[in-house]
Amino acid sequence: MMSTCVYRIQTALLKITCKSQHHLPIIRIQIQRFLGIMPSITDLKVVIYGDYNCPFCYALHEHLQADERQDLTEWRLIQHAPDVTSNVCTTDDQVELTNEVATVRHRAPDLTIALPPNRPNTRQANQITESLRQFSAQLAQQFRTLVYRALWCSGLDISKTETLQSLLEQLDHPLPIPGPQTQKQLDEWQDLWQQSNYDKRIPVMHHPEGQPLLGLASKEDILSYLTQPGRQPLHTIASCSFKPRPIIVLLGSMTEYWPLIQPLRNDYDLRVISGSETFVEFLDSPETIDLVLFTGPPDNGDNQRCLQVIQQRSLQHLSTIMLSKQYCSAEHTQSCQLGYNDYLHPDVPSQIIVSRISRLISLKRLTDQLQQQSNKDHLTGLYNRRELEHQLELEWLRATRSKRSLSLLMMDIDYFKQYNDSYGHLAGDDCLRTTALTIGQHIKRPGDKAFRYGGEEFILLLPETDHQGALFVAKKIQQQLASQSNQKLPAITLSIGISTVEIITRQTPFQLLELADKELLKAKQSGRNRVSSVLLDHANDE
Ligand code: GH3
Ligand code: MG
Ligand code: MG
Repeated sequence: MMSTCVYRIQTALLKITCKSQHHLPIIRIQIQRFLGIMPSITDLKVVIYGDYNCPFCYALHEHLQADERQDLTEWRLIQHAPDVTSNVCTTDDQVELTNEVATVRHRAPDLTIALPPNRPNTRQANQITESLRQFSAQLAQQFRTLVYRALWCSGLDISKTETLQSLLEQLDHPLPIPGPQTQKQLDEWQDLWQQSNYDKRIPVMHHPEGQPLLGLASKEDILSYLTQPGRQPLHTIASCSFKPRPIIVLLGSMTEYWPLIQPLRNDYDLRVISGSETFVEFLDSPETIDLVLFTGPPDNGDNQRCLQVIQQRSLQHLSTIMLSKQYCSAEHTQSCQLGYNDYLHPDVPSQIIVSRISRLISLKRLTDQLQQQSNKDHLTGLYNRRELEHQLELEWLRATRSKRSLSLLMMDIDYFKQYNDSYGHLAGDDCLRTTALTIGQHIKRPGDKAFRYGGEEFILLLPETDHQGALFVAKKIQQQLASQSNQKLPAITLSIGISTVEIITRQTPFQLLELADKELLKAKQSGRNRVSSVLLDHANDE
């Protein structure tokens, strides 16, 4: 009677106050406390977000299993790498996988773990587990154990139906047919995980009354989190991060080209866009397009404009395909001449469509990777000066279009020559790395970028950030550096010059750089460890 009452109040409150499932147990506890029923902290289940193909989640699962603590948890399976397929495993993927397995062996030496041949897709395994869970929680837990061990002990490909079927046979259970409710539940968990402040990492343990515990903690920390959710372990924790599906943009109507689109909808994040203006807006967004599907004719105005923008922005490595409703040799020739990477029509079998698209995306990602390496400073891992020039022009164009402000912070370590002379160049290099890390920690928004400009000079480019905002960031960086001194080495300081442009009129992007440089000089001349800033042509020293 009492619990029905609690449930009703809770549902009513939930409808009014929140949309998130996270709040549900908390509201329940508050009502129960209000009514004088005090659940103990261990009565509440710890929600776990995990994926089968993450070795850290496997280790967490095994720790809980060994200690028979699964009853205190509620597993929510998500996909942290939805686009992985067992037959495409690049050298980089393999390096990542071997490193992760090595980390688990290091962190959990008692655990049995063997390197599998690749990282399999987990969509079907998740669906089956969830179908079982809706039927019996205990059955789902038994199946989860079998799937984890099949992959991480026996190296079986758990993306294959036959593998999953043979595991179900061990439980004397037929292959369930997942209903719509199953996928709905999985999608809900996926959204909750992606939208929560978990940094898109797994595993996550989240007690309704505590802070989430991200990554694989030690066995002791995991077990104590179950009873003392407020206690956080001190060390850094190993985890897998979210690898989003490649984004494919379709310029045209999806229904018209459905035979070509259909085989792609599960493996890729498809976006339909109409017109070149929307395409440019999409390019300006923080999302990275992997492939563009154009629809005929190849030389229509919108297509030509989009191709032009791709060229202007040096995005030639962005894969482009011309889709046609039926094969036409003249159109095919024209597509090649205009520079589309491929030409596809419905007569091409869907397996070929999928493999051509997947090859183009792999090539594009490889080029992105090489480009990123060539744009990075290898000592600090920040972007290099070459990338600064490119990004500055890009952000300048964006700020001109959006009429939003743009700020640039130029930072220089004070008395760095003395530091090198006193502690040696290796300590100097360490200092540069630490400073870069501190600066990097202040990149909070998707458009913010940090660069190593020269020896001990760094730049932070902050789009859509006004003068006050830039000053705030500069002060935060200085404060953090001041708090970082250790016993052996002295704290270092930065002088910072800031330039902000609020509405771009006649200036050029390099004026922003020049002005910040002048302000930096002023900060140095006025005693170092200072900030000096300018808003357009109104100088303003601090
Ligand atoms: P100020 O306060 O005026 O900025 O003085 P400073 O000593 O920091 O500036 P100065 O330009 O005189 O010296 C910069 C020093 O930075 C000289 C150089 O040895 C050092 N440096 C530049 N690049 C690197 C690097 O990659 N590693 C190390 N360890 N030192 C570097
Ligand atoms: Mg300098
Ligand atoms: Mg210096």
